[in-house]
Amino acid sequence: MSYTRTDLFSLAVTLFLLFYNNHPLEGKLTTSIPCLTEKLEQKLYGESPVFIWDKTDDSNRPVRGIHNNVIKRWGVFPKTLRETFLKSFSKTAMTVDADRQTRIMEIQWKKVFLEMRNTLVACPHCKSETFIDVNSSETRCMECGKTIAKPNMLQIGKEKVVLMNGVKIYASITKAGGDYREITGNIVADGSKPGLLVLQNLSKDVWVGVTRSGATKNVEPNQAIPVLQGIKIVFQGGNQAEII
Ligand SMILES: [Zn+2]
Repeated sequence: MSYTRTDLFSLAVTLFLLFYNNHPLEGKLTTSIPCLTEKLEQKLYGESPVFIWDKTDDSNRPVRGIHNNVIKRWGVFPKTLRETFLKSFSKTAMTVDADRQTRIMEIQWKKVFLEMRNTLVACPHCKSETFIDVNSSETRCMECGKTIAKPNMLQIGKEKVVLMNGVKIYASITKAGGDYREITGNIVADGSKPGLLVLQNLSKDVWVGVTRSGATKNVEPNQAIPVLQGIKIVFQGGNQAEII
């Protein structure tokens, strides 16, 4: 399916509204006008729009007391999401003749959301859903603000999946060309040892676990592998991951 510039812009606006509950072009500039004429509307939303978080132009920043949602939420959602919106609503991308490179296509959004899903966990303190910052030694829960120490992660190439209790692993991780909707693994607590988590193999494939000493062990369907740093897993099709 091919998208026009307007389609892609509308998609980005809709996504922004969903996450931050604020229009991306509604900030100081739009609220300072008592009566929005058609001409002004055309200027602010069409001819020379300014994204409220534009990196180089702060003339349309959100206003405290009016745009509280976006002020509160902007910093707590993952960096990858912020960066993608910054690109989407950059002045270059919003110009009429923006080339294909500067536009954020549907497939790029999909990649961002899959990346975010890999870091979505239930906060161990308040049980609310929150995102783990994979590049930080600790993360503050979006809901209760308490600190969550950096958990173990499964690294496959550049991708990192947070390994915390309740996290699901999908076929897009464990199979070459696998479906991102098919669950193939699950992180659960291991009853035998307090604090130990295991990755259950919920797929029909046999995985191969490689211990830190290099010993290998088949992980059959419904068997599990301990979540311990240094363990490697070879998935179906040869995808190799390491627990870090
Ligand atoms: Zn919490």
